[in-house]
Amino acid sequence: MPASTIAIAGLSGSQVDVIDNSLITFNPDEQAAFGWTTATADLGTGGDTALLITNVSSSKHLHIARAFIWVDVHTQILFTTPAFATFTGTAVTGIPLNRAGISIAPATAFADETGNGSDNVFARTSSNELTTGQQGQWIELDGKLTLGYRDSFGIDVVADSAAFYTFVLGYFHDN
Ligand SMILES: [Zn+2]
Repeated sequence: MPASTIAIAGLSGSQVDVIDNSLITFNPDEQAAFGWTTATADLGTGGDTALLITNVSSSKHLHIARAFIWVDVHTQILFTTPAFATFTGTAVTGIPLNRAGISIAPATAFADETGNGSDNVFARTSSNELTTGQQGQWIELDGKLTLGYRDSFGIDVVADSAAFYTFVLGYFHDN
């Protein structure tokens, strides 16, 4: 494409570019990006929380960019921001996506978490038909879900499922 000049208030220099006809902004905070992914588990009767992530930094926000879930039953899937509690489940380690950046996420995460109250459902979706069209579900949050100290993000499966996979991408940002 022909060269062009683009000006955006608050963004300058290498933070903004045009690549393949798309305007791309580079968020320096994404240098502290992490991925959380769960091993599968049987969530038991009545479903449960497939993955719960809690920001434990008092100096950094955790912004959630997007999340994915596949589950083996036709079910409603809830996206929640539960109140802080004594969380328990299978510990999940956040994996740094910037391999040259900080290596340990200031967050706790659990698969098959059973201690939260599924509070503040802010979005819901559904798994699809299971026999011939198995696909996971994505939710795009674009970093707009902001977790402060001891705020959490949960992905709940409502029906009784025996298997699931999740992936959450988020990044930390100084308060
Ligand atoms: Zn922030």
